[in-house]
Amino acid sequence: MIAEPSAGTYFDPRMETLDRERLVEHQLERLRAMLREVLASNRFYQRKLQPAGLTDARELSDWEAFRRLPLTTKAELVADQAAEPPFGTNLTYPLERYVKLHQTSGTSGGVPLRWLDTEESWDWWARLWGHVYRGAGVGPGDRIFFAFSFGPFIGFWAAWEGARKVGALTLPGGGQQSVQRLATIRELGATVLLCTPTYALRLAEVAAEQGIDTAASTIRTTIHAGEPGASIPATRARIEAAWGARCFDHCGMTEIGATGFTCQEQSGVHLIESEFIFEVLDPSTLEPVPTGEQGELVITNLGRLGSPLIRYRSGDLVRFTPERCDCGRTFGRLPGGILGRVDDMLIVRGVNIFPSAIEDVVRQFTEVAEYRIELSRVREMAEVTVQIEPTSADLAGALAERVAAALRTRIGLRMNVAAVPCGSLPRFEAKAKRVVRLN
Ligand SMILES: [Zn+2]
Repeated sequence: MIAEPSAGTYFDPRMETLDRERLVEHQLERLRAMLREVLASNRFYQRKLQPAGLTDARELSDWEAFRRLPLTTKAELVADQAAEPPFGTNLTYPLERYVKLHQTSGTSGGVPLRWLDTEESWDWWARLWGHVYRGAGVGPGDRIFFAFSFGPFIGFWAAWEGARKVGALTLPGGGQQSVQRLATIRELGATVLLCTPTYALRLAEVAAEQGIDTAASTIRTTIHAGEPGASIPATRARIEAAWGARCFDHCGMTEIGATGFTCQEQSGVHLIESEFIFEVLDPSTLEPVPTGEQGELVITNLGRLGSPLIRYRSGDLVRFTPERCDCGRTFGRLPGGILGRVDDMLIVRGVNIFPSAIEDVVRQFTEVAEYRIELSRVREMAEVTVQIEPTSADLAGALAERVAAALRTRIGLRMNVAAVPCGSLPRFEAKAKRVVRLN
């Protein structure tokens, strides 16, 4: 059986090409090892798993037994932390063992979740980012600029730690305005830009105002976190054109870990199956969907023993393929990345659409600087208005008509498109909030 990469060293890229049969054995072995620890002392999972008949990890004989374990939801975690503040009961070890605190943004569920990591689980996070960087071809000699204010959001902190695993140099960009960041990138010869997709575009916009040509900069690679934009073809193309760079996606969640990355083939998001167990379930029946069909991604992490999640409902809709990628990795993939959130799917006049589909159309128009989707209910019918901010005021009317026509053709729906004054829509540095519900 494969040895664990030891803490403090580089991660083990051999896991990425393990044949799938051995990968599955490896998962089951890691799962049992985790359950031994968790069942002994984690009150949250003792309460969930013992009534389900699991009191000893040795009883988990096969995958059928695993699939009978109860699912975990975000609502349960929020309720647990509210009942036993400030950290809740999903803790396998005494509090003194934990060295890192992060929290979720709280944008979708309202209440932020707090999450603790031990030294071992923080090192695990760094190894996950080793996979992300390797996928993007980042290694020794690279200088990674973090255009990010280092708050309690975990994504960039983990990315920062992970750079050590591939031997790259980290350049902190916190506490700087966009103009200063552009100067730092130039002065320090940064080769990789790490930020949200939204901010990559914003930074390029500020650069253009300053007469700086970002496409000619030293940045050759961009890696994104916080939002799904880097898997939306039109957004990715726009970032690549603005920076003269190749753009890579990554996905993950504060409470679960960095779960996936794109490789040089850019043929979807690879899931890090050596560190997680992934299932795709029908969100209404909670039964597995046939391979390749759309369903909700359900995740079990295998290396965060201090604050684990078992069969966690991510709320993300995906399609999964186990087919080997041209890059040689055997890790399965999500073609198109995360398609949308279960909660974000809009039903407009009987048509199901995700905000990402609207983004893919709107971002193809280089004359649109920023956009926002407003949702309202008119006589019990959902209505969508897409606000677009043109790069120049004289484009407004004609541009709105062209965007509306493209949305009608591509999505098959008539949507109101309204041009708003230049500079009037909010710009975002961390997670963008572009879908607004009016009533
Ligand atoms: Zn690949």
